[in-house]
Amino acid sequence: MRATLMYAAGDVRVETVPDARLIEPTDALVRVYRAAICGSDLWPYRSMEPDETGHRMGHEFMGVVEAVGADVRSLHVGVPVVAPFLWSDGTCVFCREGLHTSCLHGGRYGFDRVDGGQGEAVRVPQADGTLVALPAAIDDAAMPSLLTLTDVMATGHHAALAAGVGPGKSVGVVGDGAVGLCGVIAARRLGAEQVILLGRHPDRIALGIVFGVTDVVSERGEEAVERVRELTGGLGVHAALECVGYKESTLTALSITRPGGAVGRVGVPQEETIPAATRAFFDNVTIAGGPAPARAYIEELLPDVLEGTIEPGRVFDRAVPLEEVPDGYRAMNDREAIKVMIEP
Ligand SMILES: [Zn+2]
Repeated sequence: MRATLMYAAGDVRVETVPDARLIEPTDALVRVYRAAICGSDLWPYRSMEPDETGHRMGHEFMGVVEAVGADVRSLHVGVPVVAPFLWSDGTCVFCREGLHTSCLHGGRYGFDRVDGGQGEAVRVPQADGTLVALPAAIDDAAMPSLLTLTDVMATGHHAALAAGVGPGKSVGVVGDGAVGLCGVIAARRLGAEQVILLGRHPDRIALGIVFGVTDVVSERGEEAVERVRELTGGLGVHAALECVGYKESTLTALSITRPGGAVGRVGVPQEETIPAATRAFFDNVTIAGGPAPARAYIEELLPDVLEGTIEPGRVFDRAVPLEEVPDGYRAMNDREAIKVMIEP
């Protein structure tokens, strides 16, 4: 089968690899219908040290169950499924608490003989705990939004929950990438009244406004902080969603948050330390967040997607066949595309 591998920064190839197949009795084999390139795939795209064997890529995919192991109970051949970006057993203490990202028996795609999602098929371990079955007949038009449940929409929702977004709250979203834009959807869905998007790209801002942004701040640094204060009666926002991960963006998120507010962090931190920690302490600002337990959120968000109440799939502004995935990486890295969908 064909699948995507990364060999070094800027070096992505689609190659023939051994066919995905069942290994453990708890596995399912999923034929991939749609996959996506994630903003986090761009970190190695910019910095990966050369690796002769290459690394299998992709953790956002949906498809159809093609085979199941002997111990799989909840799925059968032919069922359409969506896969959260990590696999998990669904039964350990953390999964039962809804924190599937800390599953005691879970893991990542593309490691330990588990296929990456950017290919024709994937062996999904712990299939009962991992995969979420979809209704039998799925309209093609619903695919992009369903695909966002694997990662970006779940991550935006996680940021909003971690930041304590609720009815009547003011929210600042730091970062206008796909996760930030999904954070806008999540904030509005949870009842936020004012949603301020901090971003500079016209195409992303336009989409943010469609999703419910009330104010746009395109300044940077201290000027951006001042602007947000002006927009919030001099106080700052109740909730800041940090959707980037850089020191600068984290500092901005903390600086726009009012005393007693909270920052929901979902951008993978590129620094070991949290800036402005002292001020956050004296302002009683909660700093929460981490990787989103997408498996826990898919069932919650799925009805809204199927009913069309939310349309996070609009973050996909480009689709490529599998063979053109390398150009998809380039387009996202060059900011030519917000997010790229793969149609194997
Ligand atoms: Zn678990």
